[in-house]
Amino acid sequence: MRLPRTARWAALISLLFLILTGLAAWQAPEIAAWRWYLQEGKPTLTSAKLMLLPPLRWLDDYYVVADLGKNTFAIGEPRYGQCNFSYLIIGSTRALLFDTGPGVRNIAPIVRQLTSLPVEALPSHLHFDHTGNLARFADVALPDLPALRGQVHDGRFAFGLYQYLGFVEGFKRPQFHVSEWIAPGSKIDLGDRNLTIESLPGHTPDSVVLLDEAANRLFAGDFIYPSEIYAFLPGADLKTYAASARRLTKLVDAQTLIYGAHGCDRLPTVDVPTLSQADVVALTRALDLADTGAWAAGTGWYPRRIPVNERMELLAKYPWMRP
Ligand SMILES: [Zn+2]
Repeated sequence: MRLPRTARWAALISLLFLILTGLAAWQAPEIAAWRWYLQEGKPTLTSAKLMLLPPLRWLDDYYVVADLGKNTFAIGEPRYGQCNFSYLIIGSTRALLFDTGPGVRNIAPIVRQLTSLPVEALPSHLHFDHTGNLARFADVALPDLPALRGQVHDGRFAFGLYQYLGFVEGFKRPQFHVSEWIAPGSKIDLGDRNLTIESLPGHTPDSVVLLDEAANRLFAGDFIYPSEIYAFLPGADLKTYAASARRLTKLVDAQTLIYGAHGCDRLPTVDVPTLSQADVVALTRALDLADTGAWAAGTGWYPRRIPVNERMELLAKYPWMRP
């Protein structure tokens, strides 16, 4: 038996549609990144009038800083669309800069205004908006993870395209020299002050957080911050993220101050992005929902938007998607 010509065409078109839909679902994280590129293509900067909440103050026309006490400073970039916050943690012999911003402006002179001690830069993860100024520091540390070690060629670290993601805002992958590999779980000695570095994969496979036990503070990078939490980009993994969130809940207590790497969720008011253990618990719940029942729990097609609490929303991929 032969199908009529129109039926054959209909079957062919349906098959093509199925193949394309399957391909789009398989490549969704990459497609999301390219859609971002088509929308942005360049860093968005705002000239809107901003209101800083104390202790935040302007250091120049771009950078803001907050003295958090205990020799710790938050350095913010509220004019930049993603409103990054980096943290300068100072000991008696040296200082650590956790994240460096997108590199729209050089952060090194700002750091020099705040300390004269030697400074080592350590990114919370390798997205472009945290690593843009790494090349401006002589001392750069990375978490000692086998995958990252394997990315060093001729003494220089080579970013993966989707690991860096800078193309979405027109940033070129910088090259830098890794001066120190810090084992997750180990202590970073800054002189009379220790920080513990913990590997908490989820947002990316190489994400780390810093625990300042003496001050009961945690520097969370992109693991958690007020506003939209990204768990849909290439490298993100819901199951791993949820497991890490459970671990993070136990690393802190109800009094711990958790500092995130993005702020500006209450524009035009700008404050230091600060969260608590309860926010981590709420995020864990949303991650579990995303991992088990994303269709019912969220709204939107891709990424799936899942409410966390009044300050956060989870932007998730689907549980069956590869990291
Ligand atoms: Zn990130």
